[in-house]
Amino acid sequence: MRAKKSLGQNFLRDESIIAQIIQLIRPQQAQHMIEIGPGTGALTDHLAMANVPLTLIEFDADLIGPLTQRFNDKPHVSIYHQDALQLQLDKGPYVVVGNLPYNISSPLLVHLMKQSSRIDRAVFMLQKELVQRICSSPGVKAFGRLSVMLQHRFDCFESLTVPPEAFQPIPKVDSQLIELIPKPKPTDVDLASLEFIVKQAFAQRRKTIRNNLKKWFSDDTLISLDIDPQQRPETLTVHQYEQLALDYHAHH
Ligand code: SAM
Repeated sequence: MRAKKSLGQNFLRDESIIAQIIQLIRPQQAQHMIEIGPGTGALTDHLAMANVPLTLIEFDADLIGPLTQRFNDKPHVSIYHQDALQLQLDKGPYVVVGNLPYNISSPLLVHLMKQSSRIDRAVFMLQKELVQRICSSPGVKAFGRLSVMLQHRFDCFESLTVPPEAFQPIPKVDSQLIELIPKPKPTDVDLASLEFIVKQAFAQRRKTIRNNLKKWFSDDTLISLDIDPQQRPETLTVHQYEQLALDYHAHH
């Protein structure tokens, strides 16, 4: 099977790493699992052993035939030829997992974040640098748009680091597992407003929050939200961004 770069295909081949990922997923404890990008089935084989409903979402038409054959005798496995970026979760809650295609990881995580109420837990393999960004805290350089958007809905935990040699073909970067647990009571914020504010706030990182948001917030409003207008965007907390989005939504 020739890997397609355009589809972010790096297939896992290290059995001990695969075993550790499965341990983190705990398939037996899931009610229903969704695997994004099963590829040639490195993780899928182990997931399917749990006899828990398992839905596979694979975008590569060439992989659908082999997957269908492989899981032919497993009625609890359903295979969909679909773009995960279009995935609409109904019912649930699902345990969503995958060794994600790195070229679409960020938009896919935001797409799933918006459906967090239907997610029980998520375990993903991502580029290590992306995991570091998602899990970072305010005040750290890596703290940015994705950290705020994901931490708004999830508690984010970094886990096992995986070296490039665990994959075929070998990627140029380190990978890392991340576990996402939906917050039981996320702040009730209009997501489009939060996305908009976060985008504007981080438009120019070296500028102050006052300068990045001056079209929408006066100094007085910032101060009333306990934000010093001189702060840099990466020093505001997720809570402060939520407050900004609430204020923005109330006035627009
Ligand atoms: N799970 C396999 C493994 O660990 O060996 C494959 C992982 S590979 C990094 C990513 C997989 O996602 C590939 O099978 C690729 O075809 C699939 N993929 C790429 N873009 C996708 C999309 N938009 N929706 C669903 N699957 C996609």
